[in-house]
Amino acid sequence: MLFNLAVLLGTLVTVEGVGTLAHKYIMHGWGWWLHRSHHQPQLGVLETNDVYLVALALIAAALVALGKAGHAPLQWVGAGVAGYGLLYVVAHDGLFHRHWPRRLRPVNRYLKRLHRAHRLHHAVKGREGCVSFGFFYAPPLRVLRRQLRERSKTALK
Ligand SMILES: [Zn+2]
Ligand SMILES: [Zn+2]
Repeated sequence: MLFNLAVLLGTLVTVEGVGTLAHKYIMHGWGWWLHRSHHQPQLGVLETNDVYLVALALIAAALVALGKAGHAPLQWVGAGVAGYGLLYVVAHDGLFHRHWPRRLRPVNRYLKRLHRAHRLHHAVKGREGCVSFGFFYAPPLRVLRRQLRERSKTALK
């Protein structure tokens, strides 16, 4: 049981790491055509960017299926990926963007910092020069603000 729990938690941390890199290099890179909808005013309930969430759900389902087929620990990796997806929907869509009918508010310092950091991610219009690509870890806000200042200076040159 403890082993499974460790696999689950390890998966959450890993998905945050991989997700941060994917957000920076794929979603703001060649995958921008899908992510762009998220950096524009939202029109409906869904946005093209949600394709990434569907991909995450498919990966989780595949891992659980593989786990059931005999590679037991993979079930817990799958559960971790699915859990990350759920936490993402609550934190990112509910808390950061308030896309939910009932508006969530950040209740502690950690969530406030994440919320502000994500606002800074959206402070730059478009794909280039954005900061803070993680969803559950954010660098200190002063570091992000400095990065934003430096990037806007180089953009003006
Ligand atoms: Zn983004
Ligand atoms: Zn966002």
